[in-house]
Amino acid sequence: MKNLKNYQFWFITGSQHLYGEETLKQVAVNSKAIVEGLNKAAQIPAEIVFKTVATTPDAIEEVMAEANFDKNCAGIITWMHTFSPSKMWIRGLNSLQKPYLHLHTQYNKEIPNAEIDMDFMNLNQAAHGDREHGFIGARMRLPRKIVVGYWADQKTQEKIGLWMRSAAGVIASKHLKVARFGDNMREVAVTEGDKVEAQIKLGWSVNTYPIGDLIPYVEGVSETEIDALMEEYKKEYVIKTDNLESVRYQARMEIGMEKFLQEGGFDAFVNTFEDLHGLKQLPGLASQRLMAKGYGFGPEGDWKIAAMTSVMKNMAEGLAGGTSLIEDYTYHFDGENSLALGAHMLEVCPSVAAGKPAIEVHPLGIGGKDDPARLVFEGASGKAIVATLIDMGGRMRLIVNDIMAVKPILEMPNLPVARVMWKPMPNLETVAEAWISAGGAHHSVLSYALTANELRDWANMMDIEFVHIGEDIDINRFKQDLMLADIAWKLK
Ligand code: MN
Repeated sequence: MKNLKNYQFWFITGSQHLYGEETLKQVAVNSKAIVEGLNKAAQIPAEIVFKTVATTPDAIEEVMAEANFDKNCAGIITWMHTFSPSKMWIRGLNSLQKPYLHLHTQYNKEIPNAEIDMDFMNLNQAAHGDREHGFIGARMRLPRKIVVGYWADQKTQEKIGLWMRSAAGVIASKHLKVARFGDNMREVAVTEGDKVEAQIKLGWSVNTYPIGDLIPYVEGVSETEIDALMEEYKKEYVIKTDNLESVRYQARMEIGMEKFLQEGGFDAFVNTFEDLHGLKQLPGLASQRLMAKGYGFGPEGDWKIAAMTSVMKNMAEGLAGGTSLIEDYTYHFDGENSLALGAHMLEVCPSVAAGKPAIEVHPLGIGGKDDPARLVFEGASGKAIVATLIDMGGRMRLIVNDIMAVKPILEMPNLPVARVMWKPMPNLETVAEAWISAGGAHHSVLSYALTANELRDWANMMDIEFVHIGEDIDINRFKQDLMLADIAWKLK
């Protein structure tokens, strides 16, 4: 995972030379005060750096070029303290390749009744300066986030902070590497996709490594390394099996795979039960542990969901609530209270567990390998989302549904896998109809930390389609929107 704290966001204040040096000095002083205030806010997850008061086309172009080049710069925030004629911004904005937030605020909260005079008016013109700036963003069709509000208000700071997370997701996405230990599951459609398009659009490098390349890493793990990891397992989990050999083999795979992923600088990986030559078990506990460490994971060769899991883990860093691969498995029909049971063959990330997970060993039923050890637990309850990414042919579509996770209403003592139960919002029938209409996959990323808004901003910056299934959905309108969006994306 990339560390959010390593990122910087550049604050660029727009102005012009019309008002004289005194005014420009004050603009800089006020801008610095705003940046200082924002950096003190708990909701701001990375440092904001005051960069410059930009007043000429050359200066604007220079700071944008610098932002593009600087590896730590994850985005820019612009604000027009005064009027700043926006034709001056065209050249610079044309070259900008980093996420872009237009903050519409002003230094003073209220209009000072006695003090307000023409000097005050000249200095504090964001109300129309930002309109000029907004026009050029609209005219140039730039993907941008617009945040409106007084800068010291918690709500405003929260909006900026959440956008910074989406921007960090964009930067993580552009450098994301997926290792494919095995191809797409035979004949499965939804987990397929155009890897070249994904790299052009999203930046994902998705390459294959035969399982044989991984085997020496797994076999090279020493018994001492396994002993040490077993001690960690004993501390973190309840060991509910006598088959410690199976658990030890998962520890071996965890260490071996992690070495491989670290050496290659990978952020995510996939495997498939159809291609495990040389491995004794399907990685279960091993994949769960690697996900908990921040790696994205996709089963059955699903590289899109592996990459999405990694992107979302990056965006959610430091927030309460976990993020994991999940799969809609089976339903509990009960009218308005119908519930979905999410699980997978083995691989649900323990970051979403309600309590202490247990290590268990059970037969898998497919793949023809030894019984794999896995973590079994119930998912946490609370508000969450599930997100899936599909390739519509010519474009990617990100689909997000708001859910309410509940404590599983049944104990399901014979279910040998981690399970999360939820009520899709507004209800299962409407959501499943919408999800299926939109082509949503069975694999998705479950996150208790993120909301649809952060993913909408991310999709907007990545220039891919975003579809939201929320509480206020009107199913007929939803289907109409899908049809119109299809036409719009074909024209784009
Ligand atoms: Mn699956």
